[in-house]
Amino acid sequence: MRRIAIVGAGQAGLQLALGLLAAGYRVTVVAARTPEQLRTGPVLSTQAMFGPALRIERAAGLNLWEAETPAVHSVRGTLAAPPDGPQEVAVQALAFTAVMDEPGQSVDQRIKMAGWLELLAERGGRIEYRTLDGAGLRALAERHELTIVAAGRGELAELFERDAGRSPFDRPQRTLTCLYLHGVGVPDPAAEPRARMHAIPGAGELYLQPALTGSGPCTILLWEALPGGPLDCFADRPAPDEQLDRILGLLRTRLPWEYELCAEAEPTDGLANLYGAVTPTVRHPVARLGEGCHVLGIADTLVLNDPITGQGANNAARAAALYQRAIIERGGAPFTPDWMRETFELCWQHARHSVEFTTAMLTMPEHLQGVFAAAAQHEAVARRFANTYADPADYAAWLATPELTAGYLEAFR
Ligand SMILES: Cc1cc2nc3c(=O)[nH]c(=O)nc-3n(C[C@H](O)[C@H](O)[C@H](O)COP(=O)(O)OP(=O)(O)OC[C@H]3O[C@@H](n4cnc5c(N)ncnc54)[C@H](O)[C@@H]3O)c2cc1C
Repeated sequence: MRRIAIVGAGQAGLQLALGLLAAGYRVTVVAARTPEQLRTGPVLSTQAMFGPALRIERAAGLNLWEAETPAVHSVRGTLAAPPDGPQEVAVQALAFTAVMDEPGQSVDQRIKMAGWLELLAERGGRIEYRTLDGAGLRALAERHELTIVAAGRGELAELFERDAGRSPFDRPQRTLTCLYLHGVGVPDPAAEPRARMHAIPGAGELYLQPALTGSGPCTILLWEALPGGPLDCFADRPAPDEQLDRILGLLRTRLPWEYELCAEAEPTDGLANLYGAVTPTVRHPVARLGEGCHVLGIADTLVLNDPITGQGANNAARAAALYQRAIIERGGAPFTPDWMRETFELCWQHARHSVEFTTAMLTMPEHLQGVFAAAAQHEAVARRFANTYADPADYAAWLATPELTAGYLEAFR
């Protein structure tokens, strides 16, 4: 029985651990938090997952919350025209509704990772509850045939060298503010549950996502604020109640149609919020810890995107499935650094599209603005745009250059 160690009990680490365990491997997971600490701890993500990633979880029998989680069938997008002159509040410059080819879902990672950890323990996986440092990682790697670092954007990621050629930015492009709410209204009950996305030129974006948390269905609100812009006003990290007041103050003038829907909302719990900023980074996949001692990274540890396009957990699910297949196909052969690099390179073939799509959404080139305008007029354009989130490989086919986009939109003129 081959011995594999995985550091980090998140989407990638636990999905891979459960998959390898089912395939007969002896798996050790190093987890920083117990299920109880996760369930009673702070929010970790907004974790919207789209059809292709959900299919992977379903095939592995890991869709434990599917029946009770809202299935998001469509997305409503608006572009706000900012307050201007005598007009004191923003108006909708344009709006579109797009149907997803397959519904998406979001299960609070506090519940999901706690549940998956318990499942791993029940099925005979070995779990060590501790936070590893570099020396601990080396000691672990020396005791295992393969050690995978699935520690997200934690400090261990720094052991993997930044890949300057693939890393699009050297600083955060947005500051992030996330809050889980009960009691958010909907614009059209017949069309729910839907996700809503709003772009505020020169300020940032707001996403609202139906989800499941510990106290039942909820709505997750995510602000993506341009650093130094008018929405970037949460640096003091207020507690959920005060954060909500501040958010309502912003909505009142910037997105008044959302203000009405959020006015009666309440935070789901005392730790229902999250603040941060991500520097989108791609890293080399192998870290050398000493003579003959190499570890392989996965998911956020190697490919870290800003959450504006909701790619991270989806990438993690894909990467875990791909690494699982590669490990099994390796049979009894050694897990060499070359094999590690080849395995990540297979993963990168897809992940690179998520990086390119996310970069475009963060920088909003002119041709992408044209797509928003076309989406408001043509349902098919809106649908293709929304489904690019689910399969960012389609970005290369129609959004990667102004020429590609113009070619596609030509048919709608
Ligand atoms: C505000 C926000 C919103 C997001 N929204 C979305 C979204 O809508 N859709 C989407 O797909 N993605 C989203 N993401 C990204 C998504 O959450 C991550 O990409 C995904 O969770 C990455 O999975 P992972 O397994 O690589 O890492 P993680 O989920 O971060 O898991 C890493 C685990 O490793 C543990 N760990 C770290 N260091 C150590 C150590 N030294 N020793 C032991 N354990 C350690 C951590 O405690 C954690 O449990 C969002 C992220 C943020 C910040």
